[in-house]
Amino acid sequence: MSVREILTYPDPALREIARPVDDVNSEALKQLVQDLADSMYDAPGVGLAATQIGVPLRVAVTDTRWREEDGERDLKVWINPEIIRRAGEAIYEEGCLSVPGIYYDIKRAAEITLRWQDMEGNHHSADFEGFQAVALQHEFDHLDGKLFIDLLPPIKQKLLKKRLHKQKKMQE
Ligand SMILES: [Zn+2]
Repeated sequence: MSVREILTYPDPALREIARPVDDVNSEALKQLVQDLADSMYDAPGVGLAATQIGVPLRVAVTDTRWREEDGERDLKVWINPEIIRRAGEAIYEEGCLSVPGIYYDIKRAAEITLRWQDMEGNHHSADFEGFQAVALQHEFDHLDGKLFIDLLPPIKQKLLKKRLHKQKKMQE
């Protein structure tokens, strides 16, 4: 078990665009997925993208069930995910392990169709809706260097980012 440090805004590594995983069957990828899962459950959070621990590869993990229901884990691993369809609109209050303590209502697609690979390199495609669809859009934005606070209205976003920069400076 290896819990990694989760980078926080405005760490520039969070803005990196992650590259696709070529070698799906590698030991390094298995280790990365294990570290992501350990770090997500430890935080705790419902999702974590590799970019958030400073690894610019298109890998993310989610578990949108274990906190709400019986505590049983339902870890999902997404390798090279690609959203190929978005439909409708849904608003959920979002937070992010990389922007701790900040929560806002964010508008995203209500339904998505996703293509991804599993740990064995098999290709999958499926539709998702509701909270899971929102969580996946949030995580995969990280792989493109985007954060949920980038989706706020411009003025709100400017004030918030200013405040977060100041906070970070004071911590250093
Ligand atoms: Zn996040």
